Amino acid sequence: MYDDNNIFAKILRNEIPCDKIYEDDFSLFFNDINPQAKIHVLGIPKYPCIDFYEFTSKADNKIIISFFKSVNTVIEKLNINNKGFRLISNSGEHGGQEVPHYHVHILAGEKIGSLR
Ligand code: AMP
Repeated sequence: MYDDNNIFAKILRNEIPCDKIYEDDFSLFFNDINPQAKIHVLGIPKYPCIDFYEFTSKADNKIIISFFKSVNTVIEKLNINNKGFRLISNSGEHGGQEVPHYHVHILAGEKIGSLR
């Protein structure tokens, strides 16, 4: 069950600050506080859900489409499409998820190491 005391819910409520990259009605993108690459941006929907599975199960198609179009907008804004990037979403204990509000990581700006 979604817990709205998580840190990304607090960022969405403006209770704690973030280093904002892009925002629209359905999503917010900001720099990761502990970057794992030269560019490390997090994208979150403004929709209370824990992970990819819950987001794509419960949210309206309009919200889902808008969120992924926003990822595309941020990729363009960061100008990373030419050299490439890695798009990651961790889920649950086995996926290594720390913050239980659905988010994507956009890693870029240098060659990202292998997954294992
Ligand atoms: P995950 O393991 O997929 O849940 O990733 C959570 C990410 O959130 C980690 O990369 C953290 O560095 C990042 N993070 C945690 N707190 C903040 C914060 N206040 N602002 C920006 N990024 C954060």
